[in-house]
Amino acid sequence: MSEAFIVSARKYRPKRFDEVVGQESTTQTLKTAIKNKQLAHSFLFCGPRGVGKTTIARILAKTINCKDLQTDGEACNQCDSCTSFDANASFNIYELDAASKNSVDDIKRLIEQVQYPPQNAQYKIFIIDEVHMLSSQAFNAFLKTLEEPPEYAKFILATTERHKILPTILSRCQIYDFMRISVRNITSHLAKIAEKEGIEAEENALILISQKADGGLRDALSMFDRLTSLNDKKLSYQSVLENLNILDYDYFFKFVDTIHQQDTSQLLLYIEDVLSKGFELDTLLEGLSQHIRNLWVCIHPNTIDLLEHSNDIKEKYKNQSKLYQESTYLNLLQILSDAENAVKHSRNKRLVVELALLKMVYLDKLTNTTWTHLEVEKKK
Ligand SMILES: [Zn+2]
Repeated sequence: MSEAFIVSARKYRPKRFDEVVGQESTTQTLKTAIKNKQLAHSFLFCGPRGVGKTTIARILAKTINCKDLQTDGEACNQCDSCTSFDANASFNIYELDAASKNSVDDIKRLIEQVQYPPQNAQYKIFIIDEVHMLSSQAFNAFLKTLEEPPEYAKFILATTERHKILPTILSRCQIYDFMRISVRNITSHLAKIAEKEGIEAEENALILISQKADGGLRDALSMFDRLTSLNDKKLSYQSVLENLNILDYDYFFKFVDTIHQQDTSQLLLYIEDVLSKGFELDTLLEGLSQHIRNLWVCIHPNTIDLLEHSNDIKEKYKNQSKLYQESTYLNLLQILSDAENAVKHSRNKRLVVELALLKMVYLDKLTNTTWTHLEVEKKK
């Protein structure tokens, strides 16, 4: 048997603040606080799933107990405390996942642990993940401990839903907002892993995964694992496209070309094709809006870098953007935005979409007609 497969999210879990992807402002603030010994008692980490909240909580726990703290505010990763944290064997960290354990008894067990001082270390750290899911009874039981914790206790609460956290908790915590991670950052992280794992990955394939992950690194990594295991250490754009079932830019390039050529029958066939692959009509409208916005961005050379695509794709956008003038993009986007609203309320969603595309085809005539129509109205 080959060596056991370890998922990338675990295998490449950062050990230092510096290795965390895309949360520089949070890690920088924490490192400074550690160096200056200005640590809060309780922290609240807010942000979408899979962006590094628990990872940073664990690094924080390890770093403040490190016996040889580095001058840059990072843990040494060598002392006995650090190594036991890295091996998940430290007695000075207690984690509670409130998504599955949210009863009063669960929180009582945690509170009991708070009474025991850390072993051979300065701090004992309590991490409560998805803290908004604690029952209100559990919340209340916890509140007193949070108000008057022993000197050695630190609490790190994490949540994806900040608005569900009681104000009494919010006011007692130092709050950190975690951001979605950019496509660029996720892509370059995946590229590094691919290189280390000897996986031949096309850049466009990695970008596609990153886009689909929508800012969550953990999701990106699990897609990456799944797709590379399917494809025997190779990752092509085409295989990602097929496996993730993505309506990608190739479609939208075709749509825009066809709109410009005023080939309405071909457009109807494309809509049919998209539907037959199981995509929703609002996904089509949303994707097409995004595509037109991208074309508009490409009219000006200084904004092309706003596109999160590889260079050859950017070139394609740049070329297609020449089809229309800037003011036309405004009209096209307006038609799509109207259709996105209309499709939510319409029973005949397909007709709404077809009509929108038809309007885009006959945009010049449409503007004239509307204009004449208005003129007529005025004369009356
Ligand atoms: Zn250490």
